[in-house]
Amino acid sequence: MNFNDYQVAAAKYDTFDGVKPEVGDPGFIEKVLGLAGETGEACEKFKKILRDKGGKLSPEDKKEVTKELGDVLWYLASISRCMGVEFQEVAEMNIDKLQSRLERNKIHGAGDNR
Ligand SMILES: [Mg+2]
Repeated sequence: MNFNDYQVAAAKYDTFDGVKPEVGDPGFIEKVLGLAGETGEACEKFKKILRDKGGKLSPEDKKEVTKELGDVLWYLASISRCMGVEFQEVAEMNIDKLQSRLERNKIHGAGDNR
């Protein structure tokens, strides 16, 4: 499945399906909050693996964290869709940015547009 196919498939599960909300609308804010929540859930699982299991990732842990990463992915795809941006473009822009930084020896450091 490519990124755009995923984005289309993910839209089926959007409770605001059929609506392309503006940034301030509940349907958009819900997704931004959902992204933060699901990112937190993934981080929480890693925290507990570190705290309670000495950082050892069991097959079950991997499965559970992978589910949370999928939830994060869903919100990323949905937010992009609401903005009218194809998910493939998000992925390609990210790799292009990282490749540019690599070629200019700017992987390390700070700043969004370095
Ligand atoms: Mg979750």
